[in-house]
Amino acid sequence: MNHKDLWKQVLNQIELDTSKANFATWFQNTNLESIDDGRAVVSVPNAFAKEWLEKKYHKSIVRALRGQANSIRSVGYLISSQKDFEKQHVKPNSKAALNEEQLEFKEFSVDRETNLNPKYTFDTFIVGSFNELAHAAALSITKNLGALYNPYFIYGGVGLGKTHLLQAIGNEVKKRNPILKILYLTSEKFMNELISLIQNREPLNSFKEKYRNVDLLIIDDVQFIAGKAKTEEEFFHTFNVLYENGKQIVFSSDRPPQAIPNLEERLRSRFEAGLIADIGEPEYEARLAILKSKISGSARPLSDEVLEYIASVIQKNIRELEGALNLLNAKEKVKEAPLTLDEVKNTLNQLSARSQRVVSTQQILKVVSVFYNIDERDLLARSRKREIVKPRQVAMYLIREDFNGSYPYIGQKLGGRDHTTALHGYDKISKALKKDAKLVEELRLIREKLYKS
Ligand code: ADP
Ligand code: MG
Repeated sequence: MNHKDLWKQVLNQIELDTSKANFATWFQNTNLESIDDGRAVVSVPNAFAKEWLEKKYHKSIVRALRGQANSIRSVGYLISSQKDFEKQHVKPNSKAALNEEQLEFKEFSVDRETNLNPKYTFDTFIVGSFNELAHAAALSITKNLGALYNPYFIYGGVGLGKTHLLQAIGNEVKKRNPILKILYLTSEKFMNELISLIQNREPLNSFKEKYRNVDLLIIDDVQFIAGKAKTEEEFFHTFNVLYENGKQIVFSSDRPPQAIPNLEERLRSRFEAGLIADIGEPEYEARLAILKSKISGSARPLSDEVLEYIASVIQKNIRELEGALNLLNAKEKVKEAPLTLDEVKNTLNQLSARSQRVVSTQQILKVVSVFYNIDERDLLARSRKREIVKPRQVAMYLIREDFNGSYPYIGQKLGGRDHTTALHGYDKISKALKKDAKLVEELRLIREKLYKS
């Protein structure tokens, strides 16, 4: 078998136990370059793909490769140069543009019976360590409806994928077994329906019937029913009927049950009886993967540089990541040419709340020195030790990037240095950020400390 076919076999194997979105994001444009003396070399399009494959998929890759050629003893990864890779892999635009239209069209076709939006599937859901457990449990529920984790309770902050995951459960169950009755709704909708019936003095029978007759009930943002006595009561009975009949119930909330104020005790204990999983904040690699998956198939994908920038500044919220992409796409359409990184920065600055927060340069110096565990005075002193120089340059970078400080100003703030030193420091860090994922993460953490307090 030649390398190309061999790699194809390997990819087929890996695709089997990887979500479609993850597979497309990390294995697109990979190739088997060589096998030499038992060592296989896989080429990847960029540093992030390399890191991700090394960290997350190395074992599967080795296993799959050995399955094809058992002489292979080790596997290494090589970043293929951007230019070669474009030559080989750029696809004609017409097809990509079509995909984009299809995506937009799909967005509107919410199923009337189930309230499910077909665009929210497991295939389009990127998994990282921040949502790994919630995702795994969701997936296993679809295979063991009502029998495994019941109820299943997912919680996490806004825009982190709760609704997506809930709907993915519904869509997957529907795909597996179209006969089953599935109902997705928010707790607010449940409440409004109930209130309107009560106000109009209409009988509740059909309401009860509707919710007690399903195989899978998915209630989004359940925290809203807390403190609404009548809704809680009706809900409690619905829950019990479903539960006793072995029907699956799935909830989401912005916080865990014990942290929902004014929630009736009997409901709280029901919520806690099954499995509770949380979704945290996505790590840098996951944010980048999400961005990449969202633009795959778009007619004019943003450059890696731009995506990396977005992923490094928008940290908390996946919905905001999407918002940034949409905004940039719109700008690009108007301009009819790719945006420069500076234009992207300007656009995102307008979005980001960071620019509104008041932080002094003094705080930057303090947070940076605490973060790198050095004495704040060393930042200002003459030392050229590596452990000091890097934090000093990070401080310069932050003052420039987040404050728009001039180089003479930065030099002066950092122990009366020359402006060329400040410029050099800023440059050094900006360049390093393009290659050094660890540094990106450090800056994220520093900013978090800086802007949270
Ligand atoms: P929440 O309900 O937690 O507020 P959503 O489920 O509405 O958040 O997610 C916000 C947006 O981010 C949606 O468009 C969703 O598709 C997207 N999103 C969230 N998590 C992921 C993920 N893991 N992979 C891909 N897209 C995601
Ligand atoms: Mg939601």
